[in-house]
Amino acid sequence: MIECIKTYRLQHKLEESFGFSQWHYDTRNALLIEVVDDSGASGWGECYGPAEVTQSAVGSFYAPLLIGRDALQNEAAWQHCWRASLDFAMKGIMMGAMSGLDMALLDLKGKLLGVSASELMGGRVRDTVQCYATGMYFRKEPEPQLLETILTEAGDYVEQGYKALKIKVGKNIAFDKKLAAELRRAFPETRLMADSNHAYDLPEAIEVGRVLDEHNYAWFEEPLAPQHTGLFRQLADRLDVPIATGECEQTRWGFQELLSKGGVQIAQPDLSYCGGPTEALKIRSIASSLGINVVPHAWGTMLNLASATHFLATTYVEPGRAEVAEPLLEADRTSNPMRDEMYAVALEISGGGVKVPTAPGLGVEPDRAAMEKFVVQKTEETYVS
Ligand code: MG
Repeated sequence: MIECIKTYRLQHKLEESFGFSQWHYDTRNALLIEVVDDSGASGWGECYGPAEVTQSAVGSFYAPLLIGRDALQNEAAWQHCWRASLDFAMKGIMMGAMSGLDMALLDLKGKLLGVSASELMGGRVRDTVQCYATGMYFRKEPEPQLLETILTEAGDYVEQGYKALKIKVGKNIAFDKKLAAELRRAFPETRLMADSNHAYDLPEAIEVGRVLDEHNYAWFEEPLAPQHTGLFRQLADRLDVPIATGECEQTRWGFQELLSKGGVQIAQPDLSYCGGPTEALKIRSIASSLGINVVPHAWGTMLNLASATHFLATTYVEPGRAEVAEPLLEADRTSNPMRDEMYAVALEISGGGVKVPTAPGLGVEPDRAAMEKFVVQKTEETYVS
């Protein structure tokens, strides 16, 4: 029985800010959830989104709904939360809150049954997941210097063994085109992707996309605003580079609507936002029915990365063949001590890939003492008989 649900809002001020097409980060935020069973076992999850608001959604709305329920009935718990908030929370922050709870319940279920999250997701088809490096964000530097900074950072990742890199575009069209071309010239053998974080209208996306075509990029991520779901097909009709999107989208119904319009070749739900790991499995079924592969967006701390790793370990790349293009884990390489210095048991991410944990649950464990220095606010909801 679920006895207690705790939330931990964490924060870390960065020494150096970094930017992308929409804003500059100077603070890292995280919301962790701990669901405690009456046996004393804890399951952990995390939510993407504005941590302060999401914390309130978990602590004051969803936690009271879940306290006292059977911890093993995780998808029933999801349905219970969905139904209780359907009238006002089909998407958005409330679904972000449900995502972290779903992740924590999956972790807890694995621990209670003694099986890993990938076993709960259907079983591993690979024991190691290949990674791509996400980084190369914008700094507040003049453009010629910024270009050098990004090329140097990319070179560091290649030296560390990363065979795939994703850059940010969406600064301005001229710089974006130059950056994409220069990066290819510098790294002719590396798999390259570009992410605009919805910075372009359709003609601009075509213009930048043509440069990505010319330089053999592996995907063009969020080329267009997520609300204009009908434009992706028009863009795909004009370009060769595969289009990836979905980190702003949620639930099987949201993805069904997005993907069925065509144009998106790679779906990217974030497991800490899309409705959680169990909802991501349903999104994967929808995508599969349309011939689309799913490569999760992964941001945040180790819990979300571990969830994405288990998800990718259980991913059948479609269609199958003798040697498929391995699905890639997004390895955010930007500074985040809450990811890198706060876990007693962590994933070992490197250019060579990440070994899929086989321990019960997600296979990563926050270190309570190390976590304490990042905590700005806690909540706790406990069973009262
Ligand atoms: Mg992205």
